[in-house]
This record gives sequence, structure tokens and C-alpha cells, in this order.
Amino acid sequence: MTNFEVINNIIMANKTSWIKVNTDSDFSIYNIPFGIYTDANVKHHACSAIGDQIIDLYELCHHGYLGNFSFDNLVFKESTLNDFIALGKEITNAVRNRIIELFTEGNTELQSNEAHRKDILKAQTSVKMLMPIRVGDYTDFYSSIDHATNIGKMIRDPENALMPNWKHIPVGYHGRASSVCVSGHSFHRPKGQQKPADAPIPVFGPCKLLDFELETAFVIGRRTEMGESVSTAKADEYIFGMLLFNDWSARDIQTWEYVPLGPFLSKNFASTVSPWIVTLEALEPFRTKGYIQEPKVLPYLEYSGDKNLDIKLEMYIQPENSEATRVCTSNYKYMYWTMEQQLAHHTVNGCNINVGDLMGSGTISGPDPSEFGSMMELSWKGTKPIKLNDGSERKFINDNDTVTIKGWCEKDGIRVGFGECKATVLPSN
Ligand code: CA
Repeated sequence: MTNFEVINNIIMANKTSWIKVNTDSDFSIYNIPFGIYTDANVKHHACSAIGDQIIDLYELCHHGYLGNFSFDNLVFKESTLNDFIALGKEITNAVRNRIIELFTEGNTELQSNEAHRKDILKAQTSVKMLMPIRVGDYTDFYSSIDHATNIGKMIRDPENALMPNWKHIPVGYHGRASSVCVSGHSFHRPKGQQKPADAPIPVFGPCKLLDFELETAFVIGRRTEMGESVSTAKADEYIFGMLLFNDWSARDIQTWEYVPLGPFLSKNFASTVSPWIVTLEALEPFRTKGYIQEPKVLPYLEYSGDKNLDIKLEMYIQPENSEATRVCTSNYKYMYWTMEQQLAHHTVNGCNINVGDLMGSGTISGPDPSEFGSMMELSWKGTKPIKLNDGSERKFINDNDTVTIKGWCEKDGIRVGFGECKATVLPSN
């Protein structure tokens, strides 16, 4: 039986947990993601989530519930998941499966031990989630055909929006790892050079066209040596899991600086990730058909099977002291290039990858205008303001706005979600 069939069989089994899980919870028994938390007593421990609880994996191991594993439980006491992930999927999947077993309705091993439960389970609202991985390298792709077409129409040629390379190469660039932050952070509006169309020379000041980019990212779970390449067929062995990702972008800085080498200071001031890494195995039941790629891709980019994913996505803007407005919905299934193709392309020249490397999808836009994944597209370069629930309007992001991505998969009443990816923009300092 393949991994996919095993997981689908688990779904068919219609599991429930002895922990209460609401039907709209992202953290069903089918999810069991990984993260790092802190609270008044714990500096940093690895954890998972079920319902509205977190599961402290150090305590779970310490009390003997992961007794069949030979690794040192100190791996769950580290400040990131990198060393746990580096143990390999054979171990990380077995740990996840063991957690699923322990929390499934009918299993009383932990349920019947109140003292252990008190050490292991905590309310999600009582802990603070930390950055789950140490990101060594961060790459961002540009793989949504609707996004690339919209941007091409706006800044290039409405009749010939896609660059000639776009359907042959999963276009990407190397981003900046130092400013990738976990959900819940805030950052100051970036400053930089801009060149207004009517000005003869560039000006310097706070960015006026600050934008979000609705993305997901995948986390590398297995390293390669320089010179090695990962095929599309083997790519899933190297992808540990996914999270939500906001690639904050300063459009006015970007427009002036990007020729000829691509984005630089318009992107590297902040990026936001959601705190939970949802494993590729948890996402497997939600695989769906990818785009029919025409013209045919080169052989190293060919792949077989359903390699896209049905992940529902939403973006919200919340002004200070006001309610949040959903400004768009989208879906990961609109991606033209799959993660497997992105990774095969990234390594085809022998570029090595490391555990914890982060690979952004690129802005995920859908075909309908309500599915555009950036303000640049939603407001069509500022020409069509978006109305928020409090009556105010946005062309781009204002100071003190909080921007949140939500994402989840749902099929046959089973939900596997990511939680939130949220950040607040402070005035320029
Ligand atoms: Ca991007």
C-alpha cells in the first residue's frame, strides 16, 4: 500500500479524538502539525496541536508515551524543530502516527492519567507560539499563472502579459532569511528609494504602496550535497511540510529597484510565517490535479500523479480598533507549477538544500477578481479601492493595519488547517 492509500484509509476510518475538536477547528486528529511554544514555565518546547489544545512533545516523551523511539528527548527542548525534522521522515511520521494513536477515541493510555495530561496538554490561548524553524535559506517562486498574468498586464503588456520563459521555468529568486518572523509580530513600514512617474529623480521616504502577498511555503526536511539534484519523483521525500506565508512587498520601492536583478529591499524587510508546520503526509488526502502544462515542460520538470493541493485560503485586513474584513479568498490549487517541480528546478544545477530551508509559492491568485492574492491586483494598481467593513477604503496597507492569512483543507467533513499567519504594520520609524 502506498503512503497515500494508508492515509486515505485512515480518513475512511472516520477517526475522532477523546479531546473535543470543533468541526471548524484546523487541528483535527488528522492534522497533528508541529510547532514550538513558550509560556511562563517553558522557555521553548516542541509541540503539536489538537482542538484548542497544544501537546507538549517534550513532556509526552518524558512521561514515556514515545517509548519506542531511540532518539534523545532533548530534541524537543530545542528552540527550533530543525534537529527533530533532520531525524528523517521515518521517525517524524512515526511520532505523528503515535500521537494520532494516543489521542484517538478509545485509547486510554494518556486519557486515563490526569497528572500526565496536566503536564502534556495546555490551552492554545495560554501559550505563545515561536518561530518553528531556523531558516537557513529562503527562496520565493512566482508560480501562479493568474498572478503572473495580472502583474504582466499591469506593468508590461496587456496583450502579452507572461514573459517568454514563464511556462518553461518555475521562476524564482533568493530572498532573505533574517527577517522571516512568526505570526503575531509587527514591523515598521519600510523606507527606501522610490521614483514617482512625474519626478525627474528618485525620492527617499516611507513606502507608500505597502502590500501583502498571499502565499504558502514548504519546509525542506532533508539535506542534499552540492552537485546533487532532487527529481520530481523524489521531491516529496525532501519536503517536510507547509505553512502559510506572507511575502510583504513595498511596490513603489520594487518598481524602481527591480531592473535588472529582481526584488531586493522591496521584499527583505519582513516576511511572516504561520507557527504550525502541517506535514506533507497530513495534506496528502487533499491532493488534486495540477494544471495541464502547455507547452510541454522539459523532461526534468515532468511529473506523474495528482500533485496540486486543494488548500482554501483567505486574507483579512483589520484596521486598528476595528473589525477585520475578508478582502479575498484563493486556493493553492490555482498554482501552475507544483512544489515538486519547484524543488526539482531549484536543485537541477546542483544547488544544495538544507533542513529548514523555506520555499515560498509566490502570490496565489485565482481567475476571479475576488481571488487576487495582493492589493496590487485587488485594487488594480490603486485604481479600484477596496471597501472595508468599517467604511474605510484601502488601495494598499495603512499603518496599524493587521493583515491575516487563514488556510485549510476540507474534504468529506475532515478538516486539516494551518491556523493564522498574522502581522501588524507600524508607522515608519
Ligand atoms: Ca512573493
